Amino acid sequence: MKRIIYIPFDHLHRNFGALKEADPKQDVMAMVESARMTTGRNWHKERLFFLISSARHFAESLKDEGFTVEYVKAATTIDGLETIKAKHKLSEVICAEPSSFRQFEALQKCGVTFIANDFFLTPRPLFKEWADSQKSFLMENFYRLQRSRLNNLMEKGKPTGGAWNFDKENRLPPPKKYEGPAYLEHKRDQIDIEVAKELGHTPTTTWATTRKGALDQLKNFIDNHFAEFGPLEDAMTTDNWALHHSLLSPYLNNGLIHAEEVIAEAVKAFNSGKVPIESAEGFIRQIIGWREYVNGMYWFLGPDYRENNQLKATRKLLPLFTDSNKTKMNCIKETVADIEERAWVHHIPRLMLLSNLALVTGTNPQEFLDWMREVFIDATEWVMVPNVIGMGVHADGGAMMTKPYAAGGAYISRMSNYCKPCVYNPKLRTGEDACPFTTLYWDFLDRHKETFAKNHRMSQQFFGLNRLSDLPELKQRAKEVLEGLEQGTI
Ligand SMILES: Cc1cc2nc3c(=O)[nH]c(=O)nc-3n(C[C@H](O)[C@H](O)[C@H](O)COP(=O)(O)OP(=O)(O)OC[C@H]3O[C@@H](n4cnc5c(N)ncnc54)[C@H](O)[C@@H]3O)c2cc1C
Repeated sequence: MKRIIYIPFDHLHRNFGALKEADPKQDVMAMVESARMTTGRNWHKERLFFLISSARHFAESLKDEGFTVEYVKAATTIDGLETIKAKHKLSEVICAEPSSFRQFEALQKCGVTFIANDFFLTPRPLFKEWADSQKSFLMENFYRLQRSRLNNLMEKGKPTGGAWNFDKENRLPPPKKYEGPAYLEHKRDQIDIEVAKELGHTPTTTWATTRKGALDQLKNFIDNHFAEFGPLEDAMTTDNWALHHSLLSPYLNNGLIHAEEVIAEAVKAFNSGKVPIESAEGFIRQIIGWREYVNGMYWFLGPDYRENNQLKATRKLLPLFTDSNKTKMNCIKETVADIEERAWVHHIPRLMLLSNLALVTGTNPQEFLDWMREVFIDATEWVMVPNVIGMGVHADGGAMMTKPYAAGGAYISRMSNYCKPCVYNPKLRTGEDACPFTTLYWDFLDRHKETFAKNHRMSQQFFGLNRLSDLPELKQRAKEVLEGLEQGTI
């Protein structure tokens, strides 16, 4: 019987989701470019360009295979599906489980039949089983289970290299003047040009919009970056915007590439002896550990989780997030300028600069989350919500992470080259030259000392706070810094 197979813009893989069972002679492929998705919010144009052009290329590849493809523009996904149903006089719509609560509910209401979402390595019920059995949801425990379950980097039941984790080797600061191999550039074709024109955007050459481009990106990472991925994983430098990160998240998230394919290539490269264990383990942990854990937690924690604000943070989004010219803090200026250019920075600027700043300034978590959702190339609801609410700004009262990722300027100074040319001094916590991160870090601890008093993982931090002799001056400087940040003058 003829069916409609609905392909959301993050299910773009021929061998996974509802498409794996599709029959070109029978089924009608439905893709909807909804106004809600394109104009509903202040989306970064690079992100819209990537998502729309990838979907249009994918639709073409299905047509080439002989499928009937309906690619429609509509106010909402549901409106688009109704149009396609009416045109083909069909009522049955099949889709792999969507990747957000909102879309799940909307599609369910209009009678879509779901099949299990296999865009991840961990079925949702399996993750729930794990989470239900835990007292605290430590990623490390989940990850070890994944290593054994998926048999990745395991030898006779033991972790390859004699340890589960090589984090200690993977915390090097950036070397001086580090350029590294050039990053891959992706040529633009007619479809790209049309999408860019519609959006009034000049895209970078950073992001591929086809399956072939995504596979080229994977090969480029494996051949030129994988071996050095681990040690420089946390480093930040203005000499090289991506260091040895894979830049694969957009394709993993929109389906152009599957985690299984990435892991297969990574394991092959490791087995060939070209990649040291600290890089292999570090990278595989991101894919089979962090990515799967975050997705599992999104579904486990439920739709209300995103509204958490347990630290009662009420400050409005600071102007520096939407305009890199609204700050003199070099690390933030550089990071936001990078986002403005290509909608991406790696995990440490996301966590230790942007989220850290939102955390220590007491910025409203939902306003910050909405901004992060709008500007990142790889942002989707399932991945942003736990990363921001749980890991980034600790708005969930510690449901995910045992302590907040708050840090002063010393961390940034150690892990980057941002501080040397900066007008602020990471070593100072008071006075006009004091680094805002350093001042606000101590101010944050002081403001929340009662909340975290019983958190033994923070006892050293509070020991430090109690030894500060200049707390009154620091509190005064913190007030000035917060005002300056609100006015865009700091
Ligand atoms: C506050 C915050 C927000 C984030 N928002 C997103 C987001 O919207 N979308 C997104 O894909 N990742 C997000 N991440 C995770 C991580 O920053 C990006 O996956 C990574 O920077 C993407 O670049 P890459 O592909 O070069 O990653 P690499 O450093 O090469 O890592 C390989 C892969 O591991 C996965 N991964 C690593 N860490 C995480 C994580 N914490 N959560 C989920 N996947 C992870 C990604 O798929 C990534 O492609 C966020 C992290 C933080 C701290």
